[in-house]
Amino acid sequence: MAVGREKPRTPDLNPCELEAPLARAEGVNFFYGVGDARFQVLFDIALDIPPGQLVVMTGPSGSGKTTLLTLIGALRSLQQGRIDVLGHDLARLDPAALVRVRRHIGFIFQMHNLFDALSAYENVKMALQLAGRHSAAEMRARGVAMLDRLGLGHRIDHKPRALSGGQRQRVAIARALANRPKLVLADEPTAALDPDSTRNVVRLFKELTVEDGTAILMVTHDHRIIELADRLVHMVDGRIVSDVILNDALRICEFLKDVDAFKALTPNELTHVAERMRRRHYMPDEVVIHEGEAGHELFLISEGEVRIERGGREVARLGAGEFFGELALLSGNPRNANVVATQPLEAYVLGEADFQDALGASVSFREQLRRVYFLRH
Ligand code: ADP
Ligand code: MG
Repeated sequence: MAVGREKPRTPDLNPCELEAPLARAEGVNFFYGVGDARFQVLFDIALDIPPGQLVVMTGPSGSGKTTLLTLIGALRSLQQGRIDVLGHDLARLDPAALVRVRRHIGFIFQMHNLFDALSAYENVKMALQLAGRHSAAEMRARGVAMLDRLGLGHRIDHKPRALSGGQRQRVAIARALANRPKLVLADEPTAALDPDSTRNVVRLFKELTVEDGTAILMVTHDHRIIELADRLVHMVDGRIVSDVILNDALRICEFLKDVDAFKALTPNELTHVAERMRRRHYMPDEVVIHEGEAGHELFLISEGEVRIERGGREVARLGAGEFFGELALLSGNPRNANVVATQPLEAYVLGEADFQDALGASVSFREQLRRVYFLRH
């Protein structure tokens, strides 16, 4: 089985593209111990990790985070359920193929197992050699550059014994990332780091997701990382109890994909729209649109409800997934109704120029909006 031929890089990731996940778990249960001592630590885990996402996993100690990471990393054998990594069903791989899959994963675990007899650079070089893709000169350049990026440029010839705990941890991170793996699994990677190094490491992670489309699944409780996460997965007692997308463009993409008119847009067009939409909130009874005013924005309800009033009379109510404001934008006429929030409202708002762009870009989007327009008027 051909595992992990290096594919071309995919910069400029498109958050609305339905990309095949780099890792996927489905129906995963896991038990430790045997006989009477057997106990379950993972329950029906389902998780998809697409390219370019920085996914942070949190949860109390003992909730099963490390166990899940080691299963996805093929460091532990699956017992029940299915895990696919880089397009391969792990249960179907023989040991040699598993080794090849693991080489395309960057592991950053607490027990970093650096080789004491080797310098920082030589430790990193070992990972590059195992991948077998680089000449000696390329390995040197990559290894040194990665150590440098992690603030260890002046420590490349030091042995682990001569480094602090935080520095050793950064060597381990450099080693895990030197091959630019498609998937990174990290277990509390910044726990031993001072604030400056943490900032450095976090910036590096973020750059990899944006520049290379690397997917990173990371256990951490560090707020500096959570702030940059695209997604937050929370585990309690062996179960994923919440899985929330934090990145605005990603959230809007997820949402737009289910709205009929927007289904007509290609992933590229959808991304263009999603990246230009702004989230806005309104209080109950707040007027979102005033009758008679010029209209410059399209509103898509993500949460809550509005009532449409014409001449002081309610004519309709709209809820999540429905939009309003298109009429004035399509016709150039003033707003023909009041729109009032009936409960706390969250809307994604698209400005006129971006709306016109989307109309210009997609015939089907234009048709969809016209259809809504005729249904309403
Ligand atoms: P977390 O990383 O969220 O702290 P772990 O995956 O390490 O959780 O552990 C989940 C549960 O499995 C805990 O109850 C832990 O004590 C137990 N456990 C972890 N590793 C082993 C092991 N090798 N043998 C037996 N039990 C284990
Ligand atoms: Mg753990």
